[in-house]
Amino acid sequence: MERLAIMGGTFDPIHMGHLRMARAVQRQMDFDKVVFLPSYIPPHKQTRSNCASWQDRLAMVELAIQEYDDFVVSCLEFDRGGISYTYDTIKFMQKLWPGAEIYLIIGEDALIHLYKWYRVPDLLRLVHFVAAKRSGYEGEAGVTQLVRAYGPWVAEKVIHAEVPETAISSTEIRQRLREGKPIRGMVPLAVEKSIYERGLYGAEP
Ligand code: ATP
Ligand code: MG
Repeated sequence: MERLAIMGGTFDPIHMGHLRMARAVQRQMDFDKVVFLPSYIPPHKQTRSNCASWQDRLAMVELAIQEYDDFVVSCLEFDRGGISYTYDTIKFMQKLWPGAEIYLIIGEDALIHLYKWYRVPDLLRLVHFVAAKRSGYEGEAGVTQLVRAYGPWVAEKVIHAEVPETAISSTEIRQRLREGKPIRGMVPLAVEKSIYERGLYGAEP
């Protein structure tokens, strides 16, 4: 049976934290493939200033995963448009890859909010989450909330991965670019090049 891991995110931009964590989790959990799933933020919701378009975010993910075997990207959430709920996305993926075992990779900062997601108990019946430590966050709080809301069975649906921590965030990268500071080593070289070429996040070409 194929074992698939889905790595969802805004990837604005994708960085070494995402890539290292995905690779480490893949090795630890023996996943056949990691599917990067950029979330689609509809144009009318792109209210944050200094964010990149779907096309630019996708292009950067494609450049970043080039050097990694078994990493692929899915445009599912863009193709569907509007707001995508993970529950609906997983239902769709199960049809796409019948019989595959599906896991969702999540950082502990996001895990804290998982109990509020759309149809969480139904989602947890379909998949396991693999949580990776993120410096400054305590994911256990998220599991406690989940158990309080839905019962003890949900605790087994969250697997804690022992992966090396990388203290990088897209927010920090966007801010550094805005301030004209270097981002060398924080993203793959091809991504860095593309950020400057496209003048993203206020980077001066
Ligand atoms: P932003 O600062 O814009 O929120 P981000 O760096 O958090 O960006 P996202 O696209 O929001 O990146 O994250 C996608 C997923 O990757 C989330 O599950 C998040 O928890 C996880 N993640 C991102 N960066 C790291 C990191 N350095 N270590 C562990 N997990 C991470
Ligand atoms: Mg984030």
